[in-house]
Amino acid sequence: MFAQVERLPADPILGLIEAFNRDTNPNKIDLGVGVYKDAQGNTPIMRAVKEAESLLLAQETTKSYIGSHGDPLFAQHLLPLVLGADSPALQENRASLTQAPGGTGALRLAADFIKRTADNKKVWISNPTWPNHYAIFKAAGVEYASYGYVDTQSNELDFPAMLADLQQIPEGDVVLLHACCHNPTGFDLNQEQWQQVVQVLQERQLLPLVDFAYQGFGEGLEEDAWAVRLLAKQLPEVMITASCSKNFGLYRERTGAFIALARNQEDMEKVRSQLAVVARSNYSNPPAHGSSIVATILGSQELKPLWEEEVTEMRQRINTLRNDFVQALQPYGLADKFACVAQQQGMFSYSGLKPEEVAQLQKEFGIYMVSTGRMNIAGYNQQNLGYLCEAIASVCKAS
Ligand code: PMP
Repeated sequence: MFAQVERLPADPILGLIEAFNRDTNPNKIDLGVGVYKDAQGNTPIMRAVKEAESLLLAQETTKSYIGSHGDPLFAQHLLPLVLGADSPALQENRASLTQAPGGTGALRLAADFIKRTADNKKVWISNPTWPNHYAIFKAAGVEYASYGYVDTQSNELDFPAMLADLQQIPEGDVVLLHACCHNPTGFDLNQEQWQQVVQVLQERQLLPLVDFAYQGFGEGLEEDAWAVRLLAKQLPEVMITASCSKNFGLYRERTGAFIALARNQEDMEKVRSQLAVVARSNYSNPPAHGSSIVATILGSQELKPLWEEEVTEMRQRINTLRNDFVQALQPYGLADKFACVAQQQGMFSYSGLKPEEVAQLQKEFGIYMVSTGRMNIAGYNQQNLGYLCEAIASVCKAS
């Protein structure tokens, strides 16, 4: 049977990683990678996580299953982090959380849930988006389509195009929105734009699915939840997928959640019963180590402030790197061209570099990024910033 199996091409990001590893240029820089890196180029274990792990090692008494919805303590702590401690949906007992293997697992739960309960609905996704969004909905057999998001000519958020597209979506369909730190562009909506989006969602009775993978990486843990909480307040039904990969640095521990806000407790329980079945037929129970770490940190008066401080450090490092990048391009007369980099949010940036410039950066300077010009801001540091900007100036001049 295997002889007939079609060989599929590798993920383009994997190809980029392989090419980077093979490159012998001592000055090479990897801006393609999708994880946070510190000033030394490492993706460290956070101190709060290490401390929580040592507590768990001493205190854990079982490795038994945690159930299809996951660890209740994790839900108890993650729900207020996402929705706010004073969330009406929490007080009214109409929010359900199902723990999932990462944000990806949560999105797959969402996709399977949509397929099971609303097979005729399409999911509308920003163009561009994190490419795995397409793959996840395709794998679940859910139809999807795109709405506009970026003006690729000017490399700016194209909010009028987004709004116009949302206004054309058939009533009742699902709209996938990035809560903050849009991946891959870094362009986020402002509060006024979010209000307008909410209005369209209300008018057309569209169901939002909010991908919340970078809480704390934009403006702050509370600030980044503003849009999620606005939707939760204004709309009767909302789906949210949360990831603890970036803000707890728990990438490989696969820690995330699918959250559903329903009109009332009865509807919430119906949705929850579906999610249990979806989880069971996928992987039965989610992994417990990451969720135990998150619950331990968020439930501890000592560890929670330490974790918040570490999230702030990561966010500030990214924002400083964004500003320094634009500053360092000033002497080359390129500060205006790349000014958007200082205004974008989160780890990723649509730099505006063209595919041929990206190719030249890779070939001549050992600087690797996705061909769309998406850079991971955390991929460079103060030491190689000068080299990076000199190289960018060189390819921009040439083209
Ligand atoms: N959504 C977006 C927009 C992402 O960028 C990512 C991670 N790259 C995820 C979801 C999923 O993250 P994970 O499965 O690692 O938690």
